[in-house]
Amino acid sequence: MTITSPKEFPIFKTKTPGITERFDITDTVGRKKYFEAKVGKEIEKLREYLKKDTFIAFLLGKKNSGKGTYSKLFMEAVESANVGHVAVGDIVRDIHAGLDSHDHKTKLIEFLRGNYRGFHSVEETIALIEGRDQSSLVSTELIIALLKYEISKRSRQALFIDGFPRGLDQISYSLFLRELIGYRDDPDLLAFISVPNAVIDERIKYRVVCPICKTPRNLKLMATKYVGYDEKDGSFYLMCDNPSCNKARMIRKEGDELGIEPIRRRLEVDEEVFRQLLRLHGISKVYLRNAIPTDVAKEYVDDYELTPEYVYERDASGAVRTIEKPWTIEDDDGVLSYSLLPPAVVVSLIKQMAGVLRL
Ligand SMILES: [Zn+2]
Repeated sequence: MTITSPKEFPIFKTKTPGITERFDITDTVGRKKYFEAKVGKEIEKLREYLKKDTFIAFLLGKKNSGKGTYSKLFMEAVESANVGHVAVGDIVRDIHAGLDSHDHKTKLIEFLRGNYRGFHSVEETIALIEGRDQSSLVSTELIIALLKYEISKRSRQALFIDGFPRGLDQISYSLFLRELIGYRDDPDLLAFISVPNAVIDERIKYRVVCPICKTPRNLKLMATKYVGYDEKDGSFYLMCDNPSCNKARMIRKEGDELGIEPIRRRLEVDEEVFRQLLRLHGISKVYLRNAIPTDVAKEYVDDYELTPEYVYERDASGAVRTIEKPWTIEDDDGVLSYSLLPPAVVVSLIKQMAGVLRL
C-alpha cells in the first residue's frame, strides 16, 4: 500500500447539519447557493483576506486529477480577481508561441538577463525554447525563471501553481521557490489531491469533444441533453448542447480508449513526487480527496455531491433514454467508492484554506 492511498487521507465532511436543500451543483447559479450555504462564512473571510493579501498554493496530484478544475471553482466561489491559476506546462507553451512577437521576445530576454541563473546563455535559452514543444525537455533552472516571469506579471494575485514540481529532481527547487520569487512574503502551502486511478482511467476512456466548439463532455460521466444512436456500430453518442453547433456529434480522440495505459509511467512519477512532499515538514498542507467509500458516504456527504454515471437505452420506437445512477469505482486500495463532484471537493478546499491562512 502506498502512502498516497486514500486511506491515508482524512474523509472530509461536507454534509452539514440543518442544510436539507438539494443544490444543482452542475450549474453556476446552483453552485453559488451551494457554496454560500456550506462555506459562506469562509468565503467571506477569504474575500476579505484577498483584498490585501496573497498566497501561493502548489497543487499536487496525478495528471488528470482535476487540478485546473478545482482552482477554477475556487476562483468562482470567492469571486475575486485577486486569485489566479498558473499551469506550468502552459507557460512554456505560451512563451514559445509568443516569441513570434518582437516586443514579447525583447521583454523576455530582458527579464531572463536579470533573473535567470543556469547553464545556458540567455541566447541559447531562447533558442532552446524556440526549438522545443515539450516542457519536459526544458531545464528546471529555466522553468523557475519562466515561473518567476509569470508571477512577476501577477504581483497582486494569490496563485495556484499547477505542474510544479513535476519530477523528483524539482522537489528541492520547489522548497525554495518562495525565496526565489523574492519580493513576495506571503504564505505558501501544498494542496494534495488524491484521486484513484480508476477515476482518471474512465475520465479519459469516455471523454468526447464537440468538433465545432471544442466543449468537452464524457459519455459516461457528463452527458449532454441529446443522445444519438449509431445503427452501424450499435453505440450511443452525445450531441453538443451548444445551439450554434446544431447537435454536432461529439467525438472521441484516438488513443483515449486505452485510458491511463499510455500515461502510466507519468502517473507513477507524479505519485513519487506526491509521496515525497507528503513527508515534508515546515509547510502547511491541505488534503483533498476525490473518492469516498460507499459504506460511509451517507454519513459524510449529500447524495447530490456524488458523480453520477449515465447509461443509455432505446425504447421500442428507437428513441434514446438516458438513465442516471450513482457511479462506483474501486479506489487504489480496492475499496468500493463514489467519486465526489468537483464542487464538493472545493468545499473542503475552501474550509481548509481558511484554516491554513488562519482566517
Ligand atoms: Zn459544440
